[in-house]
Amino acid sequence: MDLEWSSVVDSGMDNLCSLLPSSSIDDDFQILTDIHVSSLSSTFDLKEKDMFASKELLSKSFYYIAIKNNFEFKTVRSNSKSIEFKCSQDNCPWYVRASRYKGGELWRLRKYISNHNCSINVIQTTPKQASSSLISDCIVKNFSSFDRSTPNDIMIHMHTKLGVNVSYYKAWRAKELVMNSLNGEAKESYALIPNFFMKLKEINPGSFTAYETDTEGHFKYCFMAIGACIEGWKYCRPNISVDGTFLKSKYGETLLTASTIDDNNQIFPLAFSIVDSENDASWRWFF
Ligand SMILES: [Zn+2]
Repeated sequence: MDLEWSSVVDSGMDNLCSLLPSSSIDDDFQILTDIHVSSLSSTFDLKEKDMFASKELLSKSFYYIAIKNNFEFKTVRSNSKSIEFKCSQDNCPWYVRASRYKGGELWRLRKYISNHNCSINVIQTTPKQASSSLISDCIVKNFSSFDRSTPNDIMIHMHTKLGVNVSYYKAWRAKELVMNSLNGEAKESYALIPNFFMKLKEINPGSFTAYETDTEGHFKYCFMAIGACIEGWKYCRPNISVDGTFLKSKYGETLLTASTIDDNNQIFPLAFSIVDSENDASWRWFF
């Protein structure tokens, strides 16, 4: 296993420290404000009194520990004030109890028994703590916006790096989460189109845009011709080429384009449209 594990106490620490009584700062504990799996050392563990910026971060920290050590735990109690975990194997002493610190935002690890007496036979290679969200945290640094990794590649990566088996569905879902975090949610991007068009017309006088939704308000078509392209058309040859290509997005729309040739024999774009699919109705709308 070559992942490095270490707690990350980032720039949020100053703010968090200000929430603590000054005498507490001298105690032997760490304050975790974030965790990055790719920068955690192999000896990473937690200890009683450690503080966490949120309950989610606390849970995530133990998910990492569980995956790293191939065991599963279950949540025996979780509410707005406290949380308890125990090893999923009966009679194993591994146990965690944490609670909100002085009613504020921080959480403190109150009790932590880190030893197991689980039989080797029940060590998990498919721990349920290996959620899609956690897998996405593990792989995000290896991804770019144009990554072509498949869920199978992610399954192999998780097995090689962390020794855990994850299902195809979890790997697929993890990739969705990573791509969304890198590129933004496709749904949110489509919702930004009307604002984008407004700005486009503001800074490109003479531009023409159109946006159409179906009766339920779902995206159907959009069209844009930038002012400079409209202005340039009069200097181009009187031919227009149109073409369509499918987009590799979640919703699989089609990009329609119209272009011409300028006096310098170069392709000169005139207009773009995104439509739900390439069919007679969408082409008619484009024209
Ligand atoms: Zn155990």
